[in-house]
Amino acid sequence: MRLILLGPPGAGKGTQAEKLVDRLSIIQISTGDMLRQARRDQTEAGKLAEDYMKSGVLVPDEIVVNIVRDRLNQEDCRPGYILDGFPRSVEQAQALDETLKDRGEQMDAVISLTVPDEELVMRLLARQREDDNETVIRKRLNVYTQQTEPLIDYYRSSGIIKEIDGLGDINEVFDRIISALPQSGNASQAQTG
Ligand code: AMP
Repeated sequence: MRLILLGPPGAGKGTQAEKLVDRLSIIQISTGDMLRQARRDQTEAGKLAEDYMKSGVLVPDEIVVNIVRDRLNQEDCRPGYILDGFPRSVEQAQALDETLKDRGEQMDAVISLTVPDEELVMRLLARQREDDNETVIRKRLNVYTQQTEPLIDYYRSSGIIKEIDGLGDINEVFDRIISALPQSGNASQAQTG
């Protein structure tokens, strides 16, 4: 099973990705986490990404696309993966399509989590990350609307998008996601109860 989790910052992508990892026994690939790790390790990519991340704008596509390509080449991605926070622009989605084509793979579903802006701001302010102050939060929400939201239409045309209401209890949202997954996701649910 190969999935993309799409949604604004604070929609619960990371939380739901973790639950999907448990349920489907596939790995999570979070570009946000990988970039934060790269910054801690002070790698070339990490140093380049720093200023963009602090101000809440997207790190240049080339950097992120390379990180994801390298990650997908690792053995543990074979059974499947959940992309969390990638792609975030049409250019990244096109680069991903190319990569998938080269690998002979296809996405099974794109889960788009929808949550109203004011709820997102509240959730993000309650979280304590250096890029979670109100100015940067508003910036990140803007960036989402401008650069990432167009992906909903992009994936609508391929017919694999599932729009999920991200409001409510974490487990309820999770159940909505599981019900929306194509066959193998539901089969796996039946096996594990
Ligand atoms: P996240 O943890 O997904 O909210 O990401 C935190 C920050 O990392 C974002 O505000 C961006 O600056 C950067 N970032 C994460 N994923 C991407 C991506 N796919 N493309 C560009 N920048 C990204």
